This record gives sequence, structure tokens and C-alpha cells, in this order.
Amino acid sequence: MLVAVSEFPGVLRVGDLEVAVSVSERRKSVRLTVERDSSVVAIVPPQVSKAELVRMVENKRTWLYGKLAEKRDLGVPPPAKEYISGEGFLYLGRSYRLRIIESGCVKLIRGRLELPKGGGAKELVDWYRRVGDPWLRRRVPSWASRMGAELTGLRVRPLGYRWGSCSQDGQINIHWATMQLPPSLIDYVLVHELAHLQRPDHGPDFWRIVDRTLPGYAEHRERLRRAGNNLWLPEEGR
Ligand SMILES: [Zn+2]
Repeated sequence: MLVAVSEFPGVLRVGDLEVAVSVSERRKSVRLTVERDSSVVAIVPPQVSKAELVRMVENKRTWLYGKLAEKRDLGVPPPAKEYISGEGFLYLGRSYRLRIIESGCVKLIRGRLELPKGGGAKELVDWYRRVGDPWLRRRVPSWASRMGAELTGLRVRPLGYRWGSCSQDGQINIHWATMQLPPSLIDYVLVHELAHLQRPDHGPDFWRIVDRTLPGYAEHRERLRRAGNNLWLPEEGR
């Protein structure tokens, strides 16, 4: 049971931190957490005084700032695109500005991503798939041979919120949105899927294969998790 106690106004200010305080009869010690929405919450046993709680929050300040910074890095999803000149789109980790042209097809030319008037998400998703296909086909053989993986085919397509998938007959699928990532992270996605051709699960043997191929994969995995929040993923292309 949670009861707000009069000594605590609900929100306790400690320096520039705001802590939402609740009292629980059942708690023996203070529980301090940073929630998904970046709010700091303390659940305290009834006998804890305000002064004690302030001291505790101060002692945990470094930890709290670290947690809050982590949430901030994950950020909020980018705003919806309007498909107007000047808007930035990522390709291989670099941002290219959109230029609306009278007619023609989507193409990357002289540092601009050209989109015919009236075009939008569908045309751009098609473009990522069209350029992603040959790019990945050139990239994947050296990884496959290094790993001794028997790759039978590769497709670039929407895959919901997954970067890649593979099937038992040796085919791997890569999400078109992956083409927005820098090449080093695309390599991680490829290596991950190629490793699944040998190990379908995420057990220790699987990660051993990944680590042998890409030492320090944990850093890539973390970078990928963060990068994922900044990618453009319209409803049509999921
Ligand atoms: Zn996997």
C-alpha cells in the first residue's frame, strides 16, 4: 500500500533533482528509481525523515545523473517527415538534404537526395530498398566467407522493428531502414544474422561466433540500440 505522508509534499527537491516521494508501510529501506519518463521516484518506509532522504539522494546523485543521461541519449523519436526541400535523410550514416524536383525518380546526386514532386514515404522506402540491395550484396560475401556461413540469398525489405532475420534455408533478410546506419553498424547487423545461420538462438555459442568475427560487439550492439531511435521508420515501411 502506498500512502503519501504529510512530511513529504509529494515532490522533494534536492539541488536540481525532483524526487516524487511515496511512503510504503511494507518497505524496510528506501527504493530510488529513475522511471521510463525520466522522473525520479523514491518509495520510503514510514520512519524515514526528510533530512535522511535528502542525504540519501545526495549520496546517490552521480548514479541518478548517469541514469538520467542514459534516458536522454535514448531520446525521443524524430519528428514526422514532411517531404519538403531541405529535410535531412540518413544514408550510410550521413545526412543528405532532400531536394524536390519536378519529375524523375528518387536518386542521390551531388550530395542531395532528389524526390519528385508529390512523392513521399513510399518512394523513399523504395529507394532505400533499391540502393540497399546491391550495397549489401557487395558487402556480405567477405563476412560470409570469413564466418564459413552458407548464405543462399539476401533480401532488403520491411521487417517491423527487427534489423534482420534469417530463414533455415540460408537466406537473410535485412530491414531497408538499416541502410540509414553507418557501415560499421550495418556490418554488425550482417554478422549477427550470418551467425544465426549457425546458431538460431542468442545463447553463449551464438555470441562467441559474433565476438570472434567482430571483437567488441557489445559496443556495436549498444550503438545500434541508440542509433535505432534516430532512424526514420514511416508506417508504410514497417
Ligand atoms: Zn538475433
